[in-house]
Amino acid sequence: MGPPRSPVDAHCRWDVDDAGSGLQRAAATLQAELLEQAARQVVGTSPASQRELSDALDEASLRGRLALDSPAVRAAVLSETLPGASGFLTAIPSKAMKPSMEPAEFRSEVQCRLAAEVFQEEGYCPLGDSVLDVHGFHCSVCTCGGDKSAAQHAARNLTYFYAASAGCRPDLERAAVDLAITSPQRQAALQRASEVAGSAAQLYEDYWRTDLNTEAQCSQQGIAFVPMVAERSGGWGASGIQVLQQLARKAQARDGKAASLHMQEYLEGLNVAVRRANAQAVLKRAPGTATVAPGAADAARALLHS
Ligand SMILES: [Zn+2]
Repeated sequence: MGPPRSPVDAHCRWDVDDAGSGLQRAAATLQAELLEQAARQVVGTSPASQRELSDALDEASLRGRLALDSPAVRAAVLSETLPGASGFLTAIPSKAMKPSMEPAEFRSEVQCRLAAEVFQEEGYCPLGDSVLDVHGFHCSVCTCGGDKSAAQHAARNLTYFYAASAGCRPDLERAAVDLAITSPQRQAALQRASEVAGSAAQLYEDYWRTDLNTEAQCSQQGIAFVPMVAERSGGWGASGIQVLQQLARKAQARDGKAASLHMQEYLEGLNVAVRRANAQAVLKRAPGTATVAPGAADAARALLHS
């Protein structure tokens, strides 16, 4: 790190080399927290910007977290880094907003985003005989109760509403756009999803395109197959993001509002739709027992104020 700019603060003393000084302690903490790679990136840059330091610390914090957890938790945390996964936190709450979240649903999804324990103890799914884990991961793979299709239908309907608003029905008719929500905890995806963010969505896209032969069948009919796959976090795979960006550009051409604002609206609305369905799946499986695990409330507070 380089010296501060004295014109900004004439009284500042750059005492990074003085043992025990506040600056020395801060620099030591920073370097201890950073991974080797991040440290190489930042230390020596003269001076490193606040943004570079924050990004490096975030990266180190994420990697440190991932090193400690089980594959299922790692997959959940990585999925939360996908584009669109945090939309429910930035969506402006409004009774007029469709869909909107109830407080209990919002609380449940904040716990899931933090990979906190949503149930106090392991049990059995009341809708089947599978084990219901404390993180509630089972809720997103459970085939009982129609919850998987509820999330999918909500997101699909909203996407078609956005497409109609952007005036692109004719375009969608030349392409077979279909949408799915997949879980990074499903057995076939878990290993890769615990290592690389977005793997679950990518695997599902590949399965859809090739294993089910959908792409070839569409091609024979002269139409393009465009899969949109989100993970349980509501974060999107690459193809889904491309479709939404295309819609946002069409919407901009139609109403003059910036495509980035349309994109933000899509990501927030879809994230609320997916997360609301997820929360209902969690709350349904533990009526009256989906409580805030010890420490989760503090973690949620810290996240909301960060
Ligand atoms: Zn179940």
